[in-house]
Amino acid sequence: MRTAALATSLLLGACTSIATTKPANAPPSRPPNVVVIFVDDLGYADIGPFGGSIPTPNLDRMAREGMRFTDFSVSSAVCSASRAALLTGCYHQRVGIAGALGPDAQIGLHDDETTLAELCKSVGYATACFGKWHLGHHPKFLPGRHGFDEWFGLPYSNDMWPLHPAYAKLPSDAERRKRGYPPLPLLDGERVVDAEVTGEEQALLTKHYTERAVAFVEQHRDEPFFLYVPHTMVHVPLFASPAFAGRSGRGAFADVVMEIDWSVGEILAALQRCGLDEHTLVLFTGDNGPWLSYGEHAGSAGALREGKGTMFEGGIREPTIARWPGRVPAGASCHEFAATIDVLPTVAKLIGAELPPRRIDGLDIGPLLFGEAGACTPHTLFCCYYAGGQLQAVRDGRFKLHFPHDYATLGGKPGGRDGAPAPYTTATIGLALFDLRADPGETKDVAAQHPEVVARLQQLAAAARKDLGDALQKTSGSGVRAAGRLGPDDARLVW
Ligand code: MG
Repeated sequence: MRTAALATSLLLGACTSIATTKPANAPPSRPPNVVVIFVDDLGYADIGPFGGSIPTPNLDRMAREGMRFTDFSVSSAVCSASRAALLTGCYHQRVGIAGALGPDAQIGLHDDETTLAELCKSVGYATACFGKWHLGHHPKFLPGRHGFDEWFGLPYSNDMWPLHPAYAKLPSDAERRKRGYPPLPLLDGERVVDAEVTGEEQALLTKHYTERAVAFVEQHRDEPFFLYVPHTMVHVPLFASPAFAGRSGRGAFADVVMEIDWSVGEILAALQRCGLDEHTLVLFTGDNGPWLSYGEHAGSAGALREGKGTMFEGGIREPTIARWPGRVPAGASCHEFAATIDVLPTVAKLIGAELPPRRIDGLDIGPLLFGEAGACTPHTLFCCYYAGGQLQAVRDGRFKLHFPHDYATLGGKPGGRDGAPAPYTTATIGLALFDLRADPGETKDVAAQHPEVVARLQQLAAAARKDLGDALQKTSGSGVRAAGRLGPDDARLVW
């Protein structure tokens, strides 16, 4: 049944937002609160509303009470870059953040970029981030310098610690520490509250983020707020709290998905308790698709091709749900294209904030969100598919054109076991056109049948290269802005 629902959701055509109940037309009496729940490495088919079989009753309910977005894309299939796009409304390529920043990174989000938190603050919102930041770990890059009143969480990914899963087979912890990363710190604001997070502490991260999120909602019930919850999970290494470890009976990955679902339920319950249901837009999505090399510790992109790190739909399409009772139609599905870069301009319009002074790439998707009749994606070209500075693909409505590039794949081999990764091999795709409406799994190259589409997308790509560059063609773009860089006199995070 769920598989059938998934197939249907992937294949429906354009401009088909389906509302099963009508949204109220009355404008809200106060600007809405905004909650963004951002899960790390979540596959398209990992949750119930998108065909997953792991029990996710709270997300099921959220979908019944809100709208599923079945064609919702991130800008990058890797952590830092994806977050940069969500928080700035820009392609990550524009703001100079690529890939995943490690503990030795000397860069971070530039101070001149305007984040979603700063935008909300500009109209008096309280703001908080509870979870993984990953946009630079030195003080000048931390959430407090980018508009968040409060932050508690990890500066980067939870595998960037001495016990990285790739070193699991080394004979001792001491050996692993020699080969791997420095200790992983946990921060509250700019204060290191734990200089060396242990596995036991990782197991409590989802719980602690949730407790902080619930407390923040309760504390700010009488004023508008923006709450951002970028979970550390379901990124490897997987950890669930004692209440969830083993609970699914299906292994660690299902346990952590169930705990994320619990967390969503706790946040929704807090909103209801505070009488904020009808004053709050809640958006649930993720930063990139499943990290397939981790096998039984990875999620699933279902029928979509490949996963994290690739520009195929399995890497960049995320299961997305929006809920705002009385405003977003309940039990609805939007099959129009939308993306994380659209969150900032959409929220700006909702809360009456001015758009950032610097150019952004996202567009207002309010008409889709509110189920307006005949609403279509506002995007005519979405050239988000940059990886490592390479323009690997462009998309124009139903068609996506891949340019020749290499990508990592398991090539049909199984992923890793017991939390360790299996090796990827490198494959190459040539120029290939896919009709995502008929073939969201990107299995059939239809370039020969649609030469005019290929030509049009090539033209759009040429314009994108002038703006944002392309490492494949060794061209730089005039519209690329620099990331923030640590200067010799800037404070370093020490722990
Ligand atoms: Mg990620």
